[in-house]
Amino acid sequence: MYDFVVVGVGPAGARFSRRAAENGYDVLAFEKGTVGEPLACSGHVSTDIWEFTGSGARNELFQNEIYGARFHVGGPHSTAYPFYKRDVASNVIDRVGLDRHLADLAREAGADVREEHTVTEVTEQHDRVEVVANGPDGAETYEAKMVAGCDGPRSRVRNALSIPEPDELLHGVLAFSDENDHENFVDVHLTAPTFFAWRIPRGEAGVEYGLAAPPGVEVTKHFEELIDGYEIDVSHRCSGAIPIGPPTRVTSRRGFLIGDAAAQTKPFTGGGILYGMTSADHAAREIDPDRPATLGAYERAWRDDLDREQALGHWLRRAYSFPEPIQRLGLGALSGEIGVHMDRPTSLVSIEHLKALLSRR
Ligand SMILES: Cc1cc2nc3c(=O)[nH]c(=O)nc-3n(C[C@H](O)[C@H](O)[C@H](O)COP(=O)(O)OP(=O)(O)OC[C@H]3O[C@@H](n4cnc5c(N)ncnc54)[C@H](O)[C@@H]3O)c2cc1C
Repeated sequence: MYDFVVVGVGPAGARFSRRAAENGYDVLAFEKGTVGEPLACSGHVSTDIWEFTGSGARNELFQNEIYGARFHVGGPHSTAYPFYKRDVASNVIDRVGLDRHLADLAREAGADVREEHTVTEVTEQHDRVEVVANGPDGAETYEAKMVAGCDGPRSRVRNALSIPEPDELLHGVLAFSDENDHENFVDVHLTAPTFFAWRIPRGEAGVEYGLAAPPGVEVTKHFEELIDGYEIDVSHRCSGAIPIGPPTRVTSRRGFLIGDAAAQTKPFTGGGILYGMTSADHAAREIDPDRPATLGAYERAWRDDLDREQALGHWLRRAYSFPEPIQRLGLGALSGEIGVHMDRPTSLVSIEHLKALLSRR
């Protein structure tokens, strides 16, 4: 009997596996394909990412550094409203490489990470969970004291444990051009209904164009308009789901969700790498597989940390749907130097932000 079976080895699953193994637990982690593939993410993260990686990771994964974002109410040639920091605000990184790096750290810590294993069934008993995984040698059943559902936005574990769905599932699309662009600003276009489109310079790795919007919106049509506006050829198109709004609970009797499975994402950007790994740390610290009551401590810990950030993030996102004249007025009035941490919207009320506002001429 394992202490934990982890389903899914993205950033959340890899981080939890590593931390739980470091705490001395027997961890078996299943990834349905090859870790990191297929890519469906921009890999645009705050510099906090390097607190979660091992030595040498920055040399391996870093692509570009970003100081701020230029917001546009219209397309590529419309007025730009820049928001920026004096220091580096974020990094663009190799996301496939990140996942592989995090999985290697989990293995080094002692977790048994198995790729090409798809979990097809999860059953909770009063004293254990049974997990069926389909691998190269066929289907096998494994027993564990607890199961961690780290299997992304369309989580099978979430369904098996009868945990409610996230509020929303946005549809995100990406494509890349081969421009060599080391510029330090991303462009954000508020043209997609209720969300946004973006352009991210990735240094020698090219430029990424992307867009996300809720179901019902013609994402492909809006994306083509973006590409046409930039007058650029793109390739390597990919897409993925972005969950927004966590369910009221992310734990069951002997199971719990982390990362996108739990919608631990930023409602105003859809970013979830840092929130997922932060929540994985809360889970590894709080959950004792021999004491199911500790699941409540995990539920409290991650919400205490991220609830207010997500609530404020929802309010910020509402501004994407304001009428255009109000957006222009607001962006015009607020743009300039800021001191806000991109993962922590509550830092709008911080000494750093106040200092940045006062330093504006
Ligand atoms: C277009 C787009 C752009 C994005 N850009 C950013 C960004 O710039 N910055 C950012 O922070 N976030 C971004 N995100 C969000 C980010 O990708 C996710 O928040 C992050 O990947 C969540 O990590 P996770 O480990 O919870 O889930 P995932 O990364 O989805 O990992 C889940 C893993 O579980 C595996 N799995 C699923 N089902 C099973 C099963 N039954 N058995 C075994 N394995 C299974 C999957 O193969 C996958 O590897 C973006 C998302 C999209 C769609």
